[in-house]
Amino acid sequence: MAKRCGFSGLEILLMVLFVAMTAVAVGFIAYTVTQQSSESRDQEPTPTPTPEVPAIPYLIGVGRADITGPVGDVPFMGYANLDQTAGGIHMRLYSRAFIVDDGSKRVLFVSADIGMVSQRLRLEVLRGLQAKYGDLYRQDNVVLSGTHTHSGLGGYFQYTLFMITSKGYIKSSIQIIVQGIVKSIERAHENLRPGRIFINKGELEESNLNRSPHSYMNNPEEERKRYNGNTDKQVVVLKFTDMDGDGIGMISWFAVHPVSMNSSNHMVSGDNLGYASYLFEQDKNIGSLPGRGPFVATFASSNLGDVSPNTRGPHCLNTGESCDYLNSSCPIGGTKMCVAFGPGNNMFESTRIIGENIFKKSKELYSSTKQEVRGPIHFAHQWLNMSDITIQINSTHTAKTCKPALGHSFAGGTIDGGGALNFTQGAVEGDPFWDGIRDAILGPPSNETQDCHRPKPILFSTGEMNWPLPWHPVIVDVQLITIGSVAIVAIPGEVTTMSGRRIREAVKKELESSHAFANTEVVIAGLCNIYTHYITTYEEYQIQRYEAASTIYGPHTLSAYIQSYRGLARAIAEGTEAELPKGPEPPFFTDSQLFSLLPLNPVDKTPDNSSFGEVLEQVDPVYTVGQVASVTFVAGNPRNSGDMTDKTFVTVEKLHNSTQTWSVVHTDASWETRFHWIKGTSGLSNATVEWHIPQSAQSGFYRIRHFGHYKEFRNLKPVFTAYEGVSDVFKVNKRIYY
Ligand code: ZN
Repeated sequence: MAKRCGFSGLEILLMVLFVAMTAVAVGFIAYTVTQQSSESRDQEPTPTPTPEVPAIPYLIGVGRADITGPVGDVPFMGYANLDQTAGGIHMRLYSRAFIVDDGSKRVLFVSADIGMVSQRLRLEVLRGLQAKYGDLYRQDNVVLSGTHTHSGLGGYFQYTLFMITSKGYIKSSIQIIVQGIVKSIERAHENLRPGRIFINKGELEESNLNRSPHSYMNNPEEERKRYNGNTDKQVVVLKFTDMDGDGIGMISWFAVHPVSMNSSNHMVSGDNLGYASYLFEQDKNIGSLPGRGPFVATFASSNLGDVSPNTRGPHCLNTGESCDYLNSSCPIGGTKMCVAFGPGNNMFESTRIIGENIFKKSKELYSSTKQEVRGPIHFAHQWLNMSDITIQINSTHTAKTCKPALGHSFAGGTIDGGGALNFTQGAVEGDPFWDGIRDAILGPPSNETQDCHRPKPILFSTGEMNWPLPWHPVIVDVQLITIGSVAIVAIPGEVTTMSGRRIREAVKKELESSHAFANTEVVIAGLCNIYTHYITTYEEYQIQRYEAASTIYGPHTLSAYIQSYRGLARAIAEGTEAELPKGPEPPFFTDSQLFSLLPLNPVDKTPDNSSFGEVLEQVDPVYTVGQVASVTFVAGNPRNSGDMTDKTFVTVEKLHNSTQTWSVVHTDASWETRFHWIKGTSGLSNATVEWHIPQSAQSGFYRIRHFGHYKEFRNLKPVFTAYEGVSDVFKVNKRIYY
């Protein structure tokens, strides 16, 4: 298939499919959510010190750094929609790092506000750490996890399928993410100090929903009966304190897709989990602007594979009626019309409600925890060739994993972002029309791969597509770290609810075979180290909804992982983790092998008789809290601002009457501000800055400023020049004066 003419045809097919499959229409339905129990404001009843405090406390370091990246033109990573390109900022994105050292061993857990960690990203981060710290931080003691926000930038992948869906390998995007992750680790490393860890868990209702209940129901009844519901409700919180009991950081895991922001959004956002981090950090770092202050809180991903935050559930946009239960489609309009919304009236409100729910529950658990985590640290890691694992099913039977392939229902999408073509979920037979197109361009999948994946009808036999580079990875990380009686399983993809439960149970059982691991709490950390799409149970796989069609190594994928994680757990329990075979190293393709489809950033232009930063639409003279102040500037492409890490495109400033000076009350990282960059034609563009004035705003005089850069050519050389704009001064009142 490596014919010279092959790529353009194949690329077009893929683009058509991806663009079409992810069109999400918009329409929102009101929904009232039960507010979670509220707690009193911020006193921190740190657990009473117990006499059994470990003789040698842990060394703990926490750090945070900006990974927002160039917020113009670059496609978002998540909905695989090439039209969903970056156009500004709602919330900045951060990497948050946590180092724990027991005096002899050290582990590092990073949770980053990105769609997922890719193999390329991990390898580049590990290279950065190697250059700075030698062998201190390695593939076996470093876990990198993505929150799975669908409103972060793409362009950080080295396999062809992911490069196509994010316009290639985009150096300006991945560089910022790599540097930011390394920076967060440096900050954590620099503030290592003696400290203590506490754990707590509880249940959170009304904040997630199973989006493939029909698949879930195919799991054995006896197994389902052991759980109260088809999603996990549990929130697990780790609290980090110094030796005085003062909080320094927190990690919270709750299983939900960060897809409250849908594919119509173009502003970079951490979505519901990112907003929960924002709230927790603002609560602890009182008086700091967002993204600043010493306390670091992350809300990391877990077994969210089949879990939607759109709690109002799926409905047909055109009729308001329920979608077909089996394949999530509508009588008129098909899968495109079947979309889940809620709990808010729009995506911002839904993000806020889900984020607040998770934040409040986590804060309650953080504040009330009494159970201290004690004991040594362990870690185990292997690289597996996931296309070639033999699984011992029972004493007489074995099964095998397959070369990667995606099924037809992959193109059906989900209720969080449906397909636009005639693909539906639950397809267990191919479609002659699409199969014909595929065969003409790519050639048919081999019989071996078709047999291996049954009952999945193969849409793309990615394991047999290697041009210009392999379309999917086969060398995959499996990793397990333990801190005392807490075990963190680093999963290289999105596990469904039941898959996560099976992995937790298997790891727990294996660890608890050793006395040292009695009552271990096993946590699923999702989207870690490398992205391999979804992992369903064998039974869910038979139903072939989206998650199963995207289980790329075949029906026994989960069994292979369980076998591997059990091996890691057993090695830790027996103290033999250093003897585990490392496995085959993943490839690191050279920059010249990777490709970019993103055009160079163009020269910026202004309308006639205007200049960059000039106001096109002015603010009103007076606003009341609860209203939205809005101003539009002549702008440059944000890509032309280069590295804006720790800087801002926007400030909201308040006038101090006594001194006649201005102070910054919000930046582009703030929830209350929205920086919309709107691209026009021929290099023209605007920036509209909105300030959603909170009830807490003080009355007084304010102004909004915008900062950017524009690109021009001088003497045939590109030149980037800074500009700024400022609104008129406006008044904010607490209430309306008549
Ligand atoms: Zn997902």
